[in-house]
Amino acid sequence: MAKQATVELAPGVWRIPLLGDFVNGFILRDDDGQVTLVDMGVKKSGPKVMAALASVGSGPSDVTRLLLTHAHPDHAGGAAHVAAVTGRDFAIHEDDASYAEAGQSPPRDQSFLMARLMARLGGSGNDYAAVTVGERLTDGQVLDVAGGLEVVHTPGHSPGHVAYLHRSSGVLITGDSIFNVRGVRWPVRSFCTDFRLTQKTAHRLAELDYTTAAFTHGPHIADEPREAIRRFLARQKV
Ligand SMILES: [Zn+2]
Repeated sequence: MAKQATVELAPGVWRIPLLGDFVNGFILRDDDGQVTLVDMGVKKSGPKVMAALASVGSGPSDVTRLLLTHAHPDHAGGAAHVAAVTGRDFAIHEDDASYAEAGQSPPRDQSFLMARLMARLGGSGNDYAAVTVGERLTDGQVLDVAGGLEVVHTPGHSPGHVAYLHRSSGVLITGDSIFNVRGVRWPVRSFCTDFRLTQKTAHRLAELDYTTAAFTHGPHIADEPREAIRRFLARQKV
């Protein structure tokens, strides 16, 4: 049976399962039909993003904005394909922009053995096709997307990692601050630039107002998501 191309989160907002629920991208469509795409999955996900868009009745020419939560290969890997098909540049936080343009991941937290080993191996599997960045985002910026999309800078996982809050639909795109893979959990430590900072800034997600937590890794939570994230954070010693 074919995998479901999209999961509707709210009117005009869809999640795109790009590697099952393990890696997600997102579609936001304005009332006038303009489309914003958020995160492009791994290298081979580009065509899947475009197929998902077709499945909700939009096409490449409807896409006016391309966003990334951060410059990692499982989010930016499909970016070059989507940029080529839509003719658009990407927006990403200013602190991750140079990494995206170089097609590289930001440094990993060297306090973890795996990161030290990966660094010694030359970061194999860490690179992706260079991304053309048209706009550098800053914390608190509200993008002109379907009624407004707020940039929430949550550094740690990467220097310029952001969540995106779509106030009108109540959908929070968490990015990789927190995963929902077999339960709410931290991202893989050794993939973070600064794991302690990841833990610290994740608390911003507990203060925002939303009704759906749309994780970049794992299924979304539509039933009291902020409470689930608060419970998770309360259990952690940070
Ligand atoms: Zn990541």
